[in-house]
Amino acid sequence: MSKTILERRLFGPGPSNPYPEATSALGLPLLGHLDPEFIARMDNVCDGLRVLWGTKNSRTLPLSATGSAGMEAAFVNTINPGDVAVIAINGLFGERMCEVASRVGAEIVRVEHDYGTPIDAERVAAAHPNPKVIAGVHAETSTGVVSDIAALGAIKGDALLITDAVTSIGGMPVLADEWGIDVGYAGTQKCIGVAPGLAPFTISDRAFERRVAKPQSWYLDLGLLGGYATGSTGGKRTYHHTAPVAMVASLEAGLNRIQAEGLEAVTKRHQEAGKALQDGIQEMGLELFAAEGHRLPQLTTVKVPNGVDSAKVRSYLLNRFNIEIGGGVAQYADTVWRIGLMGPNANPASVALILASLKEAID
Ligand code: PLP
Repeated sequence: MSKTILERRLFGPGPSNPYPEATSALGLPLLGHLDPEFIARMDNVCDGLRVLWGTKNSRTLPLSATGSAGMEAAFVNTINPGDVAVIAINGLFGERMCEVASRVGAEIVRVEHDYGTPIDAERVAAAHPNPKVIAGVHAETSTGVVSDIAALGAIKGDALLITDAVTSIGGMPVLADEWGIDVGYAGTQKCIGVAPGLAPFTISDRAFERRVAKPQSWYLDLGLLGGYATGSTGGKRTYHHTAPVAMVASLEAGLNRIQAEGLEAVTKRHQEAGKALQDGIQEMGLELFAAEGHRLPQLTTVKVPNGVDSAKVRSYLLNRFNIEIGGGVAQYADTVWRIGLMGPNANPASVALILASLKEAID
């Protein structure tokens, strides 16, 4: 028998607690994946995702897998063996991009940055004269840093710009068309406030026309997926794989929740909660890890004070207060905490709870 777990407060790097509306929608009566009601639901979801992505791209859809599958889809559909990919690395997820791109045969040009600092577009521009792809992470969850994606769009030239918006989407403005993002992928489990399981994805016509003819992945082949979610573009919906209908219903509820509050109000709420947490952390005498001026509001990275056992604090928070926060990654595993305020958790009450419980855990 598993013991009953009271609702965890998920203040780590994700998943976050979902909006209640998104959780309730998981219990809706299941629809067939070709049911007209479901098709209408999928159309609503694609429309809602276009708003979050700041795009008019007709090919905007929730891929049936987590954010990493979005990353795979981005590279497997744009890179032929030997194509040059300039990848900006300022954390774990930039590293993962290199790993994924290498498996589809990219010639990778790494542009490495210190963890905790943002991507330098000028260094990316100088790395190669004519890459097929330039890629970077908008919100590096591993370090708590936001990078200027518009600056990458400004220097991309003829290259396709791939952007990871897993942690940014729904929590801060993402303007795919204005910034020049050609291929973007995200996840549902962070600021969108839905459980993990879908990867909101968008691809421009320009990138779609230049896509790989026969990608190594059948499941993530955007050419084949065209008929899966193109109802709102006038295309006829065809079977590709069985849509995860319950997750799509949940995503629709989450997007409706965001729309009802207003996207601008939602991002402002994230901004204010993150600032309050970061101010409070510093008032406690703790130091932040991410460079000033480039800090994500929805994911705060904190240096573990000298003499404090990171893991002990995290398990104290979990066992005493039912609160999850994250440890660091790579060489920072034991020296950094990652505290997320995403989706419904981005509010003043969460900030007060985290500050008070963290103080008790450290003392
Ligand atoms: N990219 C970023 C910035 C992430 O934070 C994550 C997950 O935390 C991923 C990619 C991978 O997404 P997933 O774990 O949903 O596969």
